[in-house]
Amino acid sequence: MANSDDQITLKNIASHSKEYGFIYPSSEIYDGLGATYDYGPYGVELKNNIKEYWWKAMVRMNENIVGIDAAIFMHPTTWKASGHVDAFNDPLIDNKDSKKRYRADVLIEEQMAKIEAKIDKEVQKAAKRFGDSFDEAQFVSTNERVLKYKGQIEEIENRMKSAIEGGDLAALKQLIVDLEIADPISGSRNWTDVRQFNLMFSTELGSTADGAEKIYLRPETAQGIFVNYLNVQKTSRMKPPFGIAQIGKAFRNEIIARQFIFRMREFEQMEMQFFIKPGTEMDWYEHWKQKRIKWHKALGLGEDNYRFHDHLNLAHYANAACDIEFNFPMGFKELEGIHSRTDFDLGAHEKFSGKKLKFFDTATNESYTPYVLETSIGLDRMFLAVMSSSYTEETLEDGSSRTVLKIPPVLAPVKVAVLPLLNKDGLPEKAEEIMSAVKLDFNAQYDAKDAIGKRYRRQDAIGTPYCVTVDHQTLEDNTVTIRERDSMEQQRVSVDELIATLEDKVSLKKLLRSI
Ligand code: ATP
Repeated sequence: MANSDDQITLKNIASHSKEYGFIYPSSEIYDGLGATYDYGPYGVELKNNIKEYWWKAMVRMNENIVGIDAAIFMHPTTWKASGHVDAFNDPLIDNKDSKKRYRADVLIEEQMAKIEAKIDKEVQKAAKRFGDSFDEAQFVSTNERVLKYKGQIEEIENRMKSAIEGGDLAALKQLIVDLEIADPISGSRNWTDVRQFNLMFSTELGSTADGAEKIYLRPETAQGIFVNYLNVQKTSRMKPPFGIAQIGKAFRNEIIARQFIFRMREFEQMEMQFFIKPGTEMDWYEHWKQKRIKWHKALGLGEDNYRFHDHLNLAHYANAACDIEFNFPMGFKELEGIHSRTDFDLGAHEKFSGKKLKFFDTATNESYTPYVLETSIGLDRMFLAVMSSSYTEETLEDGSSRTVLKIPPVLAPVKVAVLPLLNKDGLPEKAEEIMSAVKLDFNAQYDAKDAIGKRYRRQDAIGTPYCVTVDHQTLEDNTVTIRERDSMEQQRVSVDELIATLEDKVSLKKLLRSI
């Protein structure tokens, strides 16, 4: 991780994000609205750059993937067919003393994570003890303590799985009681019963006098793709395997929403549904797992910050599923999901709409409902992954300190700052001339206020990878210095080569070519 040794917390990220115009609490002058956030001037640039990287990697780089932009409102039967009306529920539990509400399954998962952490500790201790001769695989499969912890996890997992699958809320509560799980805030074990809570927001279409219809704000973008499957397949002359990609808002009335932009009630998803011939799904599942992890790792946020987490409790419609987890400040958590959804969605829409959503393969004279392989990533979670792995507090050689966002240059909101060393002697005029040229190619910022060191710090704090400084020598030989954000090293280049030099450093093309 690019962070300094000190533990960076979500609080650090949230306050930096607010102070420097990345993210503000929504409607803050009215004290905000729970788990809803607004992106500021630098936030929107970073978000757009992430979207562009995803969109181009999906739609431009794959001739068999096309994009759509479906409406947020959909016919209410969509959500009956998809199962969201009946089953998009979270089991919630309240603590009677703290009055805090939790997801029962999350409380139990956190308990399992604590046991996992004990296993990790044992492994670390043993690795230290045995040195180079340490065989981790053998240790975890034979060490008594590790085996005991593994057994505990398995038992909890089995009990949770059968309670959730059987819709047995009393058994879920009993598990919390048996594990002696306490409220993480108050330490109290005084719990209510577990209840189901539907996560969809509803509203009304049309005026009430005319008989309004209850509709929902979409809780995922995927259904907009499924209901358009046939339209897109026909109009873009695609045949399986082909994909449809979409970026858009989704809404969930989340019970726990205490982790900044990790869990929001209004958020954005970048989803791709890949339509394939039944029977080929396991190959495509592997294919997209590899493709997506490569997309992530190419950004350079740290190879060790990612891991796959296979779903043991598969949803009833899935035959394989995993998450790409990222090492957020609060630990490894889901960033993206990769799901093999079989023909569940298209099949359900066929049933509810009465329309055939099949593909007729002229080569084999067969007609089939395609299977679907889905990749689904939260744009805001991706934003948090970038911010949290980039945020660094450094002590410099002269004893001073700086806060720097080491955002991958290709994603940085501002690519270059143009700074006249002094605000006189013809330097501002020359700098403005350079600014006029670079702003056509890059998001650039002109800054002539305060001492140069202070201006560098301001750019460090918003993650600008390059500062171009115009000094007296510039007027003599038409050269400027480029200061690199992370190393703080300076290089002199001719103004004529400036755009090409910068382009090479922040090139999205180069990144796309590497994946
Ligand atoms: P979680 O288990 O964290 O609630 P999920 O498994 O319900 O997530 P999916 O339905 O698979 O999530 O959604 C796909 C992606 O959308 C997730 O990997 C995540 O990045 C993002 N996402 C889901 N819910 C939220 C939310 N409330 N806020 C921000 N991003 C979200």
